Amino acid sequence: MSKVKKKIKSIKIDLEKCNGCRACEVVCSAFHASPKYSSNNPARSRIRMIRDPIRDVYLPVYAGEYAAAECMGRDKYVIDGKEYGECSFCRASCPSRDAFKEPDSGLPLKCDMCEDDPAQEKPLCVQWCLNDALIYEEREEEVEEEEKLGDVETGLESMVDKYGMQKIMDTVARLSKKG
Ligand code: SF4
Ligand code: SF4
Repeated sequence: MSKVKKKIKSIKIDLEKCNGCRACEVVCSAFHASPKYSSNNPARSRIRMIRDPIRDVYLPVYAGEYAAAECMGRDKYVIDGKEYGECSFCRASCPSRDAFKEPDSGLPLKCDMCEDDPAQEKPLCVQWCLNDALIYEEREEEVEEEEKLGDVETGLESMVDKYGMQKIMDTVARLSKKG
């Protein structure tokens, strides 16, 4: 595989500054609505707040890769005396929980860093986080060239896992006849 220069985009999270306001969830779901900004529903957001005010836990987590099966082991973290529940830091859209799934279709959601044309100066959740809990960073790295899966491919992969390839092919054939 050949090496290519790639811009790596990341968002650093400062847990000390997050107050659980959920502005990041609102703007993410609105930006990804179709048409853009036509609605907002935090259940469709690609960033989710794990919020437990009694224990002073506020943890924004970005949707990562789709996982066809749940993992066998679970971790618990204690940071600065606060215990975070199992799966709290996990970014996967996986069968063991509802997080990072489109609520109507069940299709996986993944943070795309607000891909847009023209490009956003910074991801929307970073722009809307007035507490500066989300810090956007960019750097260049040489990486192996890899095929990037878009929303459609990831969604199809999850449907094939759920219903089987034959059923998906039959459905596509039936729909294309309807034209
Ligand atoms: S907008 Fe910032 S402060 Fe508000 S919940 Fe999201 S990360 Fe936390
Ligand atoms: S970077 Fe964009 S897509 Fe990713 S969670 Fe933030 S608002 Fe959503």
